[in-house]
Amino acid sequence: MAVGEYVSVSSQRDAEQADIDREKRELASTPEAELNELASIYEKRGLDKDLAMKVAEQLSAHDRLGAHVRDELGIEERSLARPLQAAWISAASFASFSLLPIAAFLFSPASWGIAAIAASSLACLAGLGALGGHLGGAPKVRAALRVTLGGGLAMAVTAAIGRLLGVSVG
Ligand SMILES: [Zn+2]
Repeated sequence: MAVGEYVSVSSQRDAEQADIDREKRELASTPEAELNELASIYEKRGLDKDLAMKVAEQLSAHDRLGAHVRDELGIEERSLARPLQAAWISAASFASFSLLPIAAFLFSPASWGIAAIAASSLACLAGLGALGGHLGGAPKVRAALRVTLGGGLAMAVTAAIGRLLGVSVG
């Protein structure tokens, strides 16, 4: 699971890095067109033509690549995907989740049943998945869904094996 997380966030980061590299090449080969492109982006955001060009020129003088990466590609330096961090969160959440259902089972009233424990575990998984997605710069809902479905599947498999082996947990 942690490996999968690393791969998916890594590939997102590679895609972002490829966009930035392409932008660097365009800035080197067609600087005039790139300046006009930046100005037209600011114009679309509501500045009038002259002001848009002025803003584009001043931001380009200050940090040309930064302005294009931020305003044309929509990539913030801070939100660049961080694969290792996402992998750590994923690994840590799964390690703790092998313990949580056991603790819930031991400390909750018997009438709650195994279903309530499974449901609460899945809810926590969704939260951790969203957190992992957030820190890794990935879409939160998709990250939460992926982790929750994976966790649910793992639970179903565990329950099925338990039944096959005749081990009763409920
Ligand atoms: Zn550009």
